[in-house]
Amino acid sequence: MPAKHDINKVGVESSDFPILCETCLGPNPYVRMSKQEFGNECKICNRPFTVFRWNPGAGARFKKTEICNTCAKIKGVCQTCLLDLEYGLPVQVRDAALGRKSQAPSSDINKQYYIQNLEAQMADSPDGSSTLDAEVANRAGREMLKGIARSDPYYKRNRPHICSFFVKGECKRGGECPFRHEIPKEGELSKQNIVDRYYGKNDPVAKKILREQAETKGMKAPEDKTVTTLLFLGLPQTTESEVRASLVGACPFVKPIDIRSITIVEASHCAFINFKQRQLAERAAEALSAQGGIEVGGKKAKVVWGRSRPQKGKAAASSGEASGSASGTVTVTGGSN
Ligand SMILES: [Zn+2]
Ligand SMILES: [Zn+2]
Ligand SMILES: [Zn+2]
Repeated sequence: MPAKHDINKVGVESSDFPILCETCLGPNPYVRMSKQEFGNECKICNRPFTVFRWNPGAGARFKKTEICNTCAKIKGVCQTCLLDLEYGLPVQVRDAALGRKSQAPSSDINKQYYIQNLEAQMADSPDGSSTLDAEVANRAGREMLKGIARSDPYYKRNRPHICSFFVKGECKRGGECPFRHEIPKEGELSKQNIVDRYYGKNDPVAKKILREQAETKGMKAPEDKTVTTLLFLGLPQTTESEVRASLVGACPFVKPIDIRSITIVEASHCAFINFKQRQLAERAAEALSAQGGIEVGGKKAKVVWGRSRPQKGKAAASSGEASGSASGTVTVTGGSN
């Protein structure tokens, strides 16, 4: 890949205005921006890009674009905060709710191919219509995203950063200090990585949102970490391979090899999906709950957690009522292992 070629590509994208969300832009749409061509390397594709800087409003810190125009377009995110432009949510939340694939290339070489492939795809269908059809079908996911999206811009996010000297008890600037004098909240949310956020993986903010979403829908993961089984309830006549295909389609992060077993109980119209790893079962539960269930054979089935201790006798799931009740009322029996 000759560097020249890359620079030309960037030249094409050297736009007059960056792709920004309302929050990052700030309340004044006529805000003045400084523009520096090839001012920095894009944090995703590592190509030089046009960096914009601006002050989004009184009491805010200066903001700048962190990733290039092309990378932002590919994912439909803001060039500064990398949140989805439509919903203001992390890519990982959006992708989970829409069952969207999020492959993250590992090496720099792969990254270059990845970006260039997507660029070519975008050139072929500028409106992205190819992916759109599948997602329109996912109405439940869209509704969920709309439900948790912020309706107003969240300007608090533009506040100055926390003063690192203050945190150490060493700031001598007092009221003159341009940074925030606050003790940062420790915890998983403080550990964010821009590349992970972009590709929609290991994003702690997204994890928190998805977990909370799942819990409000009665899909709280069982305390017992040995539980790795999900139940699909209200299935039409189906086969193991159809269930597997539906699951992998709705949760692209699940590979067929991650599924230990799928047991269909035809009489109860349900299936037991046993995952090899608890973590994956959790992710699948969160994604499927965001999508409002799982579509198998053209029918939306309900998803609930299984339980650890198999009980004797017929599963509670054999009752049609079980599908209408909250998770936890269904007992896993009939698993093949
Ligand atoms: Zn880029
Ligand atoms: Zn933004
Ligand atoms: Zn300070």
